[in-house]
Amino acid sequence: MILMTIKLEIIDGKDSWTGIKNYMECQYKYYLGNTTAVEIIPSDAMSEGNEFHEFANKYFDKFDKPPSWKEAKKWWGDFFNENSEQMCKGFVEFEQRRYEWCQTEKLPWKPIYREKEFETKYFTIVIDRLEVNGKDEDGNNTYTLIEYKRKPSPWDTKQLSFYHLILTAFDIKVTKWARYYAFMPEKNKFANPYEKSINALQRKLGMIWPSIKQGLFRATPGFHCKFCEFQLEGCDLIGLTLNRCSECGKDNISL
Ligand code: SF4
Repeated sequence: MILMTIKLEIIDGKDSWTGIKNYMECQYKYYLGNTTAVEIIPSDAMSEGNEFHEFANKYFDKFDKPPSWKEAKKWWGDFFNENSEQMCKGFVEFEQRRYEWCQTEKLPWKPIYREKEFETKYFTIVIDRLEVNGKDEDGNNTYTLIEYKRKPSPWDTKQLSFYHLILTAFDIKVTKWARYYAFMPEKNKFANPYEKSINALQRKLGMIWPSIKQGLFRATPGFHCKFCEFQLEGCDLIGLTLNRCSECGKDNISL
């Protein structure tokens, strides 16, 4: 019972994109991912993603203008392996080009925010990077948001729509949305989230959030289990319903 209380405290917190995405994919995955009871063993993909984020952050701390690939590689030396090289080379080359563009446009090259958290009543997001893109007709800054990804995924557009909903609450005017793919920089993409996709997600969130609060965590095994970090460690492929009592707030757990 104590275990369940700990779990519920966490579930009652604000939600992130990862949580929402997990819930849409498989409700039980959300449940397992939002508890302390199941230990997540980082997959290779997660470790690579973290490594790339670390590289990108330290890169902007270290350099005032983009280094050549040779310089960057030397600086990052001890950490480098074949994978890192594949991930980071495209990034360094991209930043060299962007630096020149920023010089011409008289814009700062370094992002104004990295790993920045924005929190609303129910949701919280951590954006990878926000940079000044120009001014709007009233002279206010407009921004480019860049998400660092490993490779393209069908969830990318929904994620940016989610961020759009949150950033709007902060009056942050993002006019360019970009995905930077660490392993496939040739697939880097600028694509604004469509209004249709934003509205659809908003409607979906309106349904998901009450379901989470009610404690519905149905397992929906499928192809996505292949990539699920709980496949081996925590998932019994059953799911559970907490059946929260609206009177006393206690949970009756059924499997
Ligand atoms: S392994 Fe499949 S059924 Fe189990 S939590 Fe993951 S996605 Fe859901």
